[in-house]
Amino acid sequence: MNSEKEIVSLRNIYVDYDGQTVLEDVSLSIKANDFLGIIGPNGGGKTTLLKVILGLINPKEGEIKIFGKNPDKVRRFVGYVPQTRIFDREFPINVWDVVLMGRLSNTSLLKYYNEEDRNITHQALRAVEMFDFKYRQIGKLSEGQRQRVFIARALVSEPRLLLLDEPTASVDTHMQQGVYDLLKGLKDKMAIVLVSHDIGVISSFVDKIACLNRKLFYHNSKEITREDLETVYQCPVEMIAHGVPHRVMKEHKEK
Ligand code: ADP
Repeated sequence: MNSEKEIVSLRNIYVDYDGQTVLEDVSLSIKANDFLGIIGPNGGGKTTLLKVILGLINPKEGEIKIFGKNPDKVRRFVGYVPQTRIFDREFPINVWDVVLMGRLSNTSLLKYYNEEDRNITHQALRAVEMFDFKYRQIGKLSEGQRQRVFIARALVSEPRLLLLDEPTASVDTHMQQGVYDLLKGLKDKMAIVLVSHDIGVISSFVDKIACLNRKLFYHNSKEITREDLETVYQCPVEMIAHGVPHRVMKEHKEK
């Protein structure tokens, strides 16, 4: 696919919950091979924005086109890895079935899985290095392993846009690295949008960064101004900027 092709277009989006404005005048353009990180404080509207892109929430105002169409018409091309912190460990299903079920969007509900479904499930589990765990019950995995399985599940639908909501929350550092390395390997094949409240963690992996706290601050690059960050987080940048490029930080006086 042409990497300059616009696949997500949000124009002047407004979303309210119970009269409270959660997204205000948000405009965003995502191209075919973008790897975009969206950062912002908890409650800033990040999950809501993903749900708008998925067509799960209708904005009060504004225009949204995904692959040039209404979001509910193209959901089949969008992979979604939701937050999984609340998870029933006793849920009696194994890794293989969790991932295979990701094929449901590509098949009719009345059809049995076919050879292609099984091959793609096999490949996806290999890609996330979880094939050896295919018979393990999902609740018996570590957080990082489970996150990889959910990424595999999103991949089997062969998405052209992959949305991940805090994919490494409560995942240990070693596994975080593994998840990000995996995403880096995928970014030639699809656009990736990664949401996190933790600027330090994602800033070294993504190609572009947007900041969201009801309003979206985005310059179609990895540059974030100090003013944007301070407006979004409403606290001095030094408190939150561990790991971000030095240029967003105030100049330090040598001691
Ligand atoms: P984030 O993902 O950045 O933490 P969310 O999009 O989850 O932010 O939430 C943005 C705001 O909208 C928060 O104040 C949250 O409490 C509120 N909110 C989210 N979902 C709902 C809902 N279904 N009903 C009412 N308010 C909601």
